Amino acid sequence: METARCIFCEIAQGSLPAAIVYRDSDAVAFLDTNPLFPGHVLLCPRQHHATLPDLPVQLAGPLFTTTQLLAKAVESAMQAEGTFIAINNRVSQTVPHLHIHIVPRKRRDGLKGFFWPRQLYADDAAREAARKAIESEIQKLQANTEP
Ligand code: 5GP
Ligand code: ZN
Repeated sequence: METARCIFCEIAQGSLPAAIVYRDSDAVAFLDTNPLFPGHVLLCPRQHHATLPDLPVQLAGPLFTTTQLLAKAVESAMQAEGTFIAINNRVSQTVPHLHIHIVPRKRRDGLKGFFWPRQLYADDAAREAARKAIESEIQKLQANTEP
């Protein structure tokens, strides 16, 4: 059976051209072809994992360390005042190979595309229910990963 083509695997393997800015044994970073601003970089693990939760835990630390390196580099290379770091997991994700967006930002740069409609909790009980549900899931996940 033919496996689905993954453009970010192809970029990582070198079979699809990209404007590479960084590579190491675990990850590759390249310019987004449709940048929010010039200098918008995508950082991908070389291994194919669709989303952040799918990433093996031992790869998460090094990938975040590389994110930090790229955030510094993009900010100073593009004479930016800061960066926006983002990951879409499934929803709004157009390429199903984990990638971290590193976007240079300036104050009043006009980035309004990220419309985040904020919602208030209905009441204190609703906030406490959400807090408890998440805390309980964390405890279950930790219990499953502890030796
Ligand atoms: P997502 O929407 O999945 O969070 O982000 C995918 C990103 O990949 C988009 O910002 C899009 O512009 C970028 N992209 C899509 N195809 C290619 C490609 O072939 N090469 C590069 N360098 N970027 C791509
Ligand atoms: Zn892939």
